[in-house]
Formats: sequence, structure tokens, C-alpha cells
Amino acid sequence: MISSICKCGKIVALERKVCPYCGKTMNSVEHGNVAEILTYTKLFTVPEGFKSPIFLTLVKLENGAKLLCECKNENDLEIDRKGKVIFEKEKYYFVSTKK
Ligand SMILES: [Zn+2]
Repeated sequence: MISSICKCGKIVALERKVCPYCGKTMNSVEHGNVAEILTYTKLFTVPEGFKSPIFLTLVKLENGAKLLCECKNENDLEIDRKGKVIFEKEKYYFVSTKK
């Protein structure tokens, strides 16, 4: 995983050139893909071209950055569930490590 860190103290997921909070240049850092679910929602009405349902999940990465991704398995949808983020077919997914 890559996150971006700003001198203002904010950390955001993925690579960003400009800080969304203060507009300064950000530095990228690489780190592990450990994550936990902060919250989630199940979308049954989805945009054209998407398959319903979508399990939209907000996760907290190991450095505190937040990432909006999808969860593959409905059974993994639980607040505080621990897992990891994987990148597959151009998208980020949360996968639970505990069964
Ligand atoms: Zn900043």
C-alpha cells in the first residue's frame, strides 16, 4: 500500500501530489496492507455497468489513513473486523483475515 503524508500532519491513502487539506506537496510512503473496517454500507441500486450489490467499505489502514474500497464477502462486513486490503482488477478490496 501507498499513503501520502503532508507536513501539516494529515495522512491520506494512496498516492497524492497535493494535500486535500492544505494544498502543500505530499510525500509518499509505502507500508503494509493491514486494515480494519470503520463502517460499511450495502448498495443494491448501483450505477450502470456495476453488479449489484456492492459492499462499500470504509477501512482504516495501519498508519491511520482511511480508504474507501469494496468488500468481496458479505460475511466479512462487521465494524472493527480486521483484515487486509488487496488490489485486484483496478480496484481495492477489503479481505478479512479472521474467519
Ligand atoms: Zn497538508
